[in-house]
Amino acid sequence: MSKKLFLIIGAPGSGKTTDASLIAQKYSDSIVHYSTGDMLREEVSSGSELGATIESYISRGALVPLDIIIDTIISAINNAPVDTVLIDGYPRSVEQMRALDEILANNSDIELVSVIEVRVSEQVAKERILGRASEAKEGEARSDDSIEVFYDRMKIYIEPLSEIQEFYTSKNLLHVVNGEREINEIVEDMEKFIKP
Ligand code: AMP
Repeated sequence: MSKKLFLIIGAPGSGKTTDASLIAQKYSDSIVHYSTGDMLREEVSSGSELGATIESYISRGALVPLDIIIDTIISAINNAPVDTVLIDGYPRSVEQMRALDEILANNSDIELVSVIEVRVSEQVAKERILGRASEAKEGEARSDDSIEVFYDRMKIYIEPLSEIQEFYTSKNLLHVVNGEREINEIVEDMEKFIKP
C-alpha cells in the first residue's frame, strides 16, 4: 500500500497536534495521525535506554539526534494501518528536511502530498504553553513546558523556518493556515488540503 504523507509544522503552542488529531478522528478509517513529540514521549515512558537518551534532549527543549527522529517517523509511516498519514512536528531542521527529501526520492511507496504550517504569533504560542503548564495535573506536566525552555524551543523552531518554507514553496507543497482562530475554523481550513 503506498502512503500519502502530510507534514504539519508549527511553533510550540501552535495547536498543531490538537488540530491534526481532530482531523484523524473525523476520518479514522482513512487517516492516521502521529505527533513526533508524542511518539518520543512514549519511548521515554517505556523506560527504555533509548527513552532515557531522548528525555535528555526533550527536557532541555533540544532536538533529538537525526537518526532517532528519522527511525521514529519512517517506522510510523511504514506501520500506519491506513494510507493517509499526518505527521506533526517534522521537519524541525534543514538537516531533517534534506534527509526526508532524500528518503522520498528513493522510495516510491511514500508520496509527500503537502506541508501545512499552522501559524501563530510568538505571544499566542507563549500564552498557550504557559497555560498548558499551569493546567497540567500533578504528574502529567511536560518536562519542557516552562518559560525558560519555551524560549529555547521557540528559537529552535524559528531558526530554520525560512529555509524550510522556501524549500517546500519551491516544490509547491507549502500551505499556511492561520492558527489564531477558533479550533473548528483552523481544522476546516486544514481539512481542505487533507480530505481523502
Ligand atoms: P512537541 O511535542 O512537538 O512540542 O515536541 C517536544 C520535544 O520533542 C521537542 O522539543 C524535541 O525535544 C522533541 N522533538 C519533537 N519533534 C522533533 C523532531 N522532528 N526532531 C527532533 N526532536 C523533536
